[in-house]
This record gives sequence, structure tokens and C-alpha cells, in this order.
Amino acid sequence: MYDIIIIGGGPAGLTAALYARRANKTVLVIEKGTFGGQITFSPKVENIPGFALVTGNEFAEKLVEQVLALEAEVECAEVLSIKDGEVKTVVTDSGEFQAKTVIIATGAKHRLLGLEKEEAMVGNGISFCAVCDGAFYEGKTVAVIGGGNSALQEALLLAETSKKVYVVQNLDFFTGEDKLVEQLKTKANVEVILGTVVESLLGEDELTGIVMRRVSDNEVTELAVDGMFVAIGLIPQNEAFADVITLNEMGYADSGEDCLTTAPGIFVAGDCRSKRIRQVTTAAADGAIAALAACNYIG
Ligand SMILES: Cc1cc2nc3c(=O)[nH]c(=O)nc-3n(C[C@H](O)[C@H](O)[C@H](O)COP(=O)(O)OP(=O)(O)OC[C@H]3O[C@@H](n4cnc5c(N)ncnc54)[C@H](O)[C@@H]3O)c2cc1C
Repeated sequence: MYDIIIIGGGPAGLTAALYARRANKTVLVIEKGTFGGQITFSPKVENIPGFALVTGNEFAEKLVEQVLALEAEVECAEVLSIKDGEVKTVVTDSGEFQAKTVIIATGAKHRLLGLEKEEAMVGNGISFCAVCDGAFYEGKTVAVIGGGNSALQEALLLAETSKKVYVVQNLDFFTGEDKLVEQLKTKANVEVILGTVVESLLGEDELTGIVMRRVSDNEVTELAVDGMFVAIGLIPQNEAFADVITLNEMGYADSGEDCLTTAPGIFVAGDCRSKRIRQVTTAAADGAIAALAACNYIG
């Protein structure tokens, strides 16, 4: 039996492993995809303290090396459920593992439009985060897809540095706050395209434009863009745990800054928990807090 099983090998889970191993706890990290998590999609990261510029993969490699050097165990498997009790049983698609405590660090997925080549173009013209990637489109033309608060905020931020920002929304109105819509109207380089959906993507390996269809009359137009920011929501990867911890109406794990869930001995860290800022730094901070809380729980 392990002291701590960590579900998810992104920045939150790997930082939790680092802190738990330094506290001499036995640790198993279970990852279903790529160790390093979402950041591995980013070719350029410029806001991790200590790295002026690093690729997401380089950063992830360093983090994985650091955790392996501390002799954390790792397993490639998808966690399907947790059986809660004094001993926690983590059920995966390749067997069951037991621990005294569990840290859920499963992150979130950005909702995609569902278009051909879209996933392959993430990091090659398609982004989800103006704070992270806006600087790469300085003086360039971008499209923001969506009409809620996130899309409006992304567009406002991009308008500061990009030459032209199109905001493409499927409905005939924005669903975000009026205050943000008013702010957007004051930006000379922003053009709003309502009642329009993105039908397909142009470019081979890198995005060069989008094909749009106006919903009212099915008119199809092409728009040349250097980048597309998709802001149509996030999907926290918490479905497997809905029966053991409380999730909020958006599916995020309810917890305070202390990373405690509603189930004793089960902690949560990173993008999958309810919070405002989802970045590498905040995920790492959660990982440290959750690991120390788990160590404290074990005693
Ligand atoms: C294209 C892109 C660019 C970005 N750029 C930046 C940036 O420049 N700066 C910045 O600070 N942030 C950036 N971010 C955001 C940053 O990557 C996330 O905030 C951070 O990775 C969150 O870390 P996490 O560990 O909470 O979750 P994740 O990184 O999502 O890791 C969670 C891991 O859990 C695994 N997992 C999920 N469910 C299961 C399961 N059931 N069983 C086993 N494993 C599971 C997933 O496969 C994943 O690897 C970017 C994100 C993207 C997508």
C-alpha cells in the first residue's frame, strides 16, 4: 500500500509527488496520457519563474526527471474510480492500487469546436489562453471564438497587442457581461462577427485561416488569421470521482485554498479544482499544498 496515490501527472500532480517524496512518503503517480499534462501542448512558455523561455515539453521533461530522481513510482493507466474507505482503492484500466490518501490532479480539457485538424493545430495557431500565448501574436491577426466572459476577456487582452482581433460568436448576442461588451466596443482593432459558426480550418500543419458560416442565411466566408483562440469553456476531468467528492455545477472539485475535498484523505490540486486562475504556477502551488496536507493526514 502507498502513502499517497496521485492521479494525474501534470504540473500539479508532479509537484505533489516532489513534496511528498521529500517528506519520505511512498508515492505512486498514475497518468493516462502524457506526463507533464496540458503544458506539453505549448511550444513557448514565458511565465514560469526561472525560465525566460521554455517549451512545454522541456519544462515537463525537467519536472518528470526531478520526480523520478526522488524515486516516485509512476504508472501509465487511466483511473476509472476511487473506492473510498480508511484505505483508498484506486481502480484503473490496468489494475487496482491502494493508498492511505489520494490526491486528484486530473486537470481540465479545453472544449474544442470539434473540427478536423483542430487537435493537431493546438500550439500551431490554435490556443486557449491569451495570457499564455497572446505575445506570440503581437502585430498579427487573430480570431477569438466564443461570446462569454472568457472570450470577451481574451479578446480585450489580445486587442492590446494584436493588429486585428475578430470575435466570432455562434449566437446573435454575447452571453458575457455588458461591461466587457462595452469595453470591447471601444477597441478600434476589434471586429465582432455574431450569429456565425466556424466550419473548418485552413492550413496544413499550422493554422492560416478559418471558414465561417453565417447561421441566418448559410453564407460561407473565409477569414485569414494567424491565430485562433478558442474560448468556449473548459471540461474538468473529474467525472470518475463524482461519487466520492463534491463537484460544483461546472464539474470542478469543491475545495478551498487548502486543497481539501469533502472526503477525508482525498485531496485535489490544479486545474480540476474550483478556482479563478488556471496556470502552471497555480497548479504547482496546489500540488505542494495538497501533498503537505496529505502528509499531515497520514501523520
Ligand atoms: C496550449 C496551452 C498553452 C498553455 N500555456 C500556458 C503558459 O504559457 N503558462 C501557464 O502557466 N499555463 C499555460 N497553460 C495552462 C497550464 O498548462 C495548466 O494550467 C496546467 O497544466 C495545469 O496543471 P494540472 O496539473 O492541474 O493539470 P494538467 O496539466 O491538465 O494535468 C492533468 C493530467 O492528468 C491526467 N489525467 C486526467 N484524468 C486522468 C485519469 N482519469 N487517470 C489518469 N490520468 C488522468 C491528464 O492526462 C493530464 O496529463 C497552457 C495550456 C494549454 C493547453
